[in-house]
Amino acid sequence: MTPAPTLAFPRSQRQLLGSVIDSSTSLLAEQTHDIVRFAMGAPNEDLMPIAALDDAFASQRSGRFDYGDSAGEPRLREQILRLVGETEVATTDDRLLVTTGGMQGLDLAFKLCVDPGDLVIVEAPTYTNGNATALSYGAEVIGAPTDAHGLIVDGLPEIVARAGRTPKAIYTIPNFQNPMGVTLTRERRVRLLELAERWGAMIIEDDPYGLLRFGGEHVASFAEIAPGHPLVFQVRTFSKTIAPGLRVGWIDVDPELRQLAISAKQAMDTCTGVPAQNAVAMFLENGHLAPHIERLKPIYRERKIAMRRELERAFGDRAVATDPDGGFFLWVTFAGALESIDTEALFTDALAEGVAYIPGPAFTTDGSMRNSLRLCFATSSPERIAEGVDRLARAAALAVPGAGLPTVGGSS
Ligand code: PMP
Repeated sequence: MTPAPTLAFPRSQRQLLGSVIDSSTSLLAEQTHDIVRFAMGAPNEDLMPIAALDDAFASQRSGRFDYGDSAGEPRLREQILRLVGETEVATTDDRLLVTTGGMQGLDLAFKLCVDPGDLVIVEAPTYTNGNATALSYGAEVIGAPTDAHGLIVDGLPEIVARAGRTPKAIYTIPNFQNPMGVTLTRERRVRLLELAERWGAMIIEDDPYGLLRFGGEHVASFAEIAPGHPLVFQVRTFSKTIAPGLRVGWIDVDPELRQLAISAKQAMDTCTGVPAQNAVAMFLENGHLAPHIERLKPIYRERKIAMRRELERAFGDRAVATDPDGGFFLWVTFAGALESIDTEALFTDALAEGVAYIPGPAFTTDGSMRNSLRLCFATSSPERIAEGVDRLARAAALAVPGAGLPTVGGSS
């Protein structure tokens, strides 16, 4: 008998990590007891415009099940042009490509900008799947420190000097960063553009949350600072503002790069699902997006305030949380008597207590940030947030019995 042939996986894909977030989600799906879900970064179904989307799907007529234009349905591109012009600075159709969610935008960005072995700088911590995408194209990824004002841009030249070579790309989530919730200041954006020019590096600007600002002042985007800059690869999505299951996003890039992106997309999925594109286009044509976002903002603001308040109540100064002006996430770092907590190890107890989150190391390139975690405040009501934080405190009290945590309500 001839031995069964073994499949040699391509070298370029051996670094594929699988998404920690997705594996947490499947672990969550197996649980049968009540769980407060602070893990996923997605709007809850009761905050999605389901009725308007149902109408938009139902009213579509002929052609909706055909292949579509690889660049995206023209009516959707027209609406995206309008949206971007109203909320940022006017862009042009020859820069736009509709993508299958923000993830495909990131995939195209790394596919087109990075060769195996190239250096890519990411924020530390950063969005797991963005990092994983860079790795899947063989990038050598270095995490750069990030503080309450976003990526510490002035620290980059030293990192580059130590690496002994310049980066091919810098991956940043400038608004309400995932996972920290922090926003890159205008000064740092200007400086980042200067460094990108000096190094000939692409800034991969991942901005799913920018429209969800519920406090503070608007910060100029890269496009507002330097319209049409050829070294900015902007990745956007409707997943957080409308609904993630639609899988509709877009990229805004230099026209020459956009041509390459269209060819690359043809080899990936030909086109983004036409019914979903039409539904988003109709939602925008009917003027639903602005009022929908205005409805969401005070809800998310209230939830963020509630989560910070409950963390303060349950943990006092044993947990330090960021204070975002928008988006979905708080980044929490245990301190003082809880500083030694390992959030990966804590996860099992937390799940047993009935609360889910994403452990800090999932957002790093080196498994560090073990005493931090990401909490999504957007998905739960203030009451559920209080319950979830109580459960988290119970799990932490189990992990560090001598931490002197204030007594938290109930027991499970
Ligand atoms: N980038 C960031 C920073 C995100 O948080 C997400 C979604 N969690 C994505 C990209 C992916 O967006 P999409 O779901 O539209 O693919």
